[in-house]
Amino acid sequence: MNIDEFRLHGHAMVELVADYLDQLPQGPPWRPVPPEVRAELADQQLPVEGRPFGELIDVSANLVMPYPFGNGHPRFFAWGNSPPALEGVLADLLAAAMNPSCAGGDHAAVYLERCTVRWLAELIGYPGDGVLVSGGAAGALTALTAARHRASVRQGWNDRTDGFTGEAAGRFRLYASAETHSCQRKAAHLLGLGDRGLRLLPADPDGRLDATALAAAVREDRAAGLLPFCVVANAGAVSTGAVDPIADIAQLCDDEGLWLHLDGSLGGFGVLDPRRAPLYQGMERADSIVVDPHKWLGVPVDCAAVLTLDLDDLRDAFSLVPPYLRASSGEDPWFSEYVFDQTRPFRALKLWATVAGTGRTEIARRITATIDLAARLADRIDAEPDLDVVVSPTLNVVTFRHRAGDDINRALPSALDRLGDVFLRGTVVNGQEVLRACFMHPGTTPDDVDRIVPAVLAAAAQLTHP
Ligand SMILES: *Cc1c(COP(=O)(O)O)cnc(C)c1O
Repeated sequence: MNIDEFRLHGHAMVELVADYLDQLPQGPPWRPVPPEVRAELADQQLPVEGRPFGELIDVSANLVMPYPFGNGHPRFFAWGNSPPALEGVLADLLAAAMNPSCAGGDHAAVYLERCTVRWLAELIGYPGDGVLVSGGAAGALTALTAARHRASVRQGWNDRTDGFTGEAAGRFRLYASAETHSCQRKAAHLLGLGDRGLRLLPADPDGRLDATALAAAVREDRAAGLLPFCVVANAGAVSTGAVDPIADIAQLCDDEGLWLHLDGSLGGFGVLDPRRAPLYQGMERADSIVVDPHKWLGVPVDCAAVLTLDLDDLRDAFSLVPPYLRASSGEDPWFSEYVFDQTRPFRALKLWATVAGTGRTEIARRITATIDLAARLADRIDAEPDLDVVVSPTLNVVTFRHRAGDDINRALPSALDRLGDVFLRGTVVNGQEVLRACFMHPGTTPDDVDRIVPAVLAAAAQLTHP
C-alpha cells in the first residue's frame, strides 16, 4: 500500500467504523457465526500475491464486523468486557502508526507510560508506581513472581539463581479465597507452587474472604512448619464483585510479614464511587495491586497495570540486562527490567487518550452509574417471585437465580442467546448455578436493564414448557 492509498482507505475505514459503532445498539448484542462464515474465515488460502486492500475492507465489512464478541452493545452484560472508548479506538491507530517498542529507551511513549501509570495510581488512591501489562492475568503472574522472589530471599536463598526447588520451596504457601480468579491459580502453577502451595479459603455467603479464617489458616500452617508468604485479596471478585475485608487482611499481612496482592482487575475502580470507597480502606498498604483499564474504563484491549509500593520489588524479580539491551547513559531503566516481556506495545496512548479525554469527574460518574444499574437490577429481581438475588451487588455485578433449579439456570444463557435481547452468562456461587449480570457500558440505560427480568422469564418459560 502506498501512502496515497493509505489516505483513501483510511477515510473509508473511519466511515465504516463510525457506521458500525453507530448502528451497533440497533442489532442484537450477539449472533452466532453461521457455519459457512466460520469456514470462510478460518479456511482461507494463504494469498500468493497481495490482494487489493479494498477487497480486504469488504471482507471485514461482510464477514468480520457482523459477528462481534458482543461487548460493544449496551445490553451485553457478560464477563468483564466493556465497549471501547472512542478516544482509545482512534489513539490505537496512531499507536500502530508509530509502532514503538515500549521496552524502554528515550522516546515519547516511555514518558506517556510513566504518566498514565501514575494517573491510575492517583485515580484509585494508591501510593505506588508500576508498569502496564496485557491484563489482569499477566499482572497477577508479575506481582506473584515478585512476592515469591522477595520471600525466597528472606528465606536465605535466591529463586532466580538457585531455582524454586528444594525443601523450603515445597513449604511456601499462598492464600486466596475460593472466589479468586482462575488466573491466580494459573500463576501458582507457573510459579511452581502448584495447587498444593495455594490454600483457598471459603468465602462467606456474600463472596468475601473471611479474615478470621485466613488468620487461623496462616497460624495453623506456620505451626505445621510451612512458609506463608503471600495473600491475594479481591477488590471485586470475578463472580460477585465482592470486595474482601482489605483493611483486616492488610493488618494480618503486616503482622505476619506477608506480601499482600490485591486483584482489582474487575473492581479496582469501584473506589471512585464515594459510597463504596470505605470498602477499599487498607488498599494503600497492599504490596501490589492490579487494575484493568480494559475493563471498567473502556480502554481498548489490552491494557492493565501492575502497581507496587516499591517498584524495586519488580526490578529485583525481573531485571536481566544483557549487553545488547543496556540503557544509554541518561536513560531511565527500561520497563523490560520490571516485567517478563521484552518488546512491549504502545498501550499508554490509548490509555492516556481515554483518561484525558474523559476526565476524572466523568470516569467517577460512569463508575457510580453502572453501580446504580446493578442495584436497579437487584430491585427488579426482588420484585419477581420466580427470581432470587444470590449475592446483593456491592459493585457493578449482580448474581441471581431462577427458582426452577440448577439445570434451568445453567441452560438460561443459551436460551437467552436464542431470544437475542440481552446477553448474559452464568457462574456458580455458593454451590449454585446462577446468572451473572455485569454493567460496564456507559451507554446502558435503565430501560436496557429493565429488559433483563422479562427476557430471563421468557427464556425460562421456553425451557420449562418447550
Ligand atoms: C478479568 C479478571 C482477571 C483477569 O484479567 P484479564 O485482563 O482478563 O487478564 C483477574 N481477576 C479478576 C477479578 C477479573 O475479573
